[in-house]
Amino acid sequence: MLKRLLGLILLIALLPWGCATTGPGNPGGGLVFISTQEEVRIGAQVARKVEKRYPVLRDDPVAHYVAEVGQRLVRVCDRRDITYHFKVLVGDQVNAFSLPGGWVYVFTGLLEKLDNTAQLAGVLGHEIGHVVARHAVKRLQLALGVGILYSLFVGERGGPLTQDAVKLIINLAMNGYSRANEREADRLGLIYEYRAGYNPQGILQVMEILRGIHHGRVSSWQRFLMDHPPPQERIRLLESYLRRLPPQALKYPFYRREYHLEVLEPLKSLGRLEKKRFLPHRYRRPSPGPGGSP
Ligand code: ZN
Repeated sequence: MLKRLLGLILLIALLPWGCATTGPGNPGGGLVFISTQEEVRIGAQVARKVEKRYPVLRDDPVAHYVAEVGQRLVRVCDRRDITYHFKVLVGDQVNAFSLPGGWVYVFTGLLEKLDNTAQLAGVLGHEIGHVVARHAVKRLQLALGVGILYSLFVGERGGPLTQDAVKLIINLAMNGYSRANEREADRLGLIYEYRAGYNPQGILQVMEILRGIHHGRVSSWQRFLMDHPPPQERIRLLESYLRRLPPQALKYPFYRREYHLEVLEPLKSLGRLEKKRFLPHRYRRPSPGPGGSP
């Protein structure tokens, strides 16, 4: 009886705070007390901070290509009530991450390690999977409790996020989610990759590439792979998802030539000629003063 009463009080207390969403756009279930609109508002604020902290490749063919692949996956994903933004960050980190509300980032350090577009689609599909399943919001709810989360992020309508709140979200996005979340994002990513017509073995190849790089040691720049769940376990699971797809999926294209042409070649020249201009200000050589040598 007491339990039921407490449940009722909790329900009433939560009601005016936002709509709980379940069903489509929320694979894996679980109540989400932050509305889509609020989630997008949180994501937009955090995205601004991310883009202040890391240099973004803007108006660049590589960035356009990554966004094009991303949008092709979005068209077949399970959550299309938001606008997705795909951006390339200039940095050596072998990482990709997503924010609540549809912002997906991939570092040039990861793009350089890949060999075909199906692999890129695997990475982006995985990140879209986190957004579709609303992992960030669910994790925040769990970590802070709905009440604190609400007062932090949504309570003051239109108010800016505190520094701590932003740090918390960026940390969560870049350092990964729970094992269950990662598995779910892997599964959704593989399905979207297949639905969009890319060879779904792409994501498996990414796992193999990253496993080959780190030789059992996970450094901070390999967060996409992460040590939980261990890569072997993720590969095994991905292989089991793959077996459930129609056999012709294995014959889908990888777009290797296209990837080299659209991403790797331009990145090489970016590395040689222009990477300097993306370095954080403090790393730039001081410019010569008036009358200095050119
Ligand atoms: Zn992930």
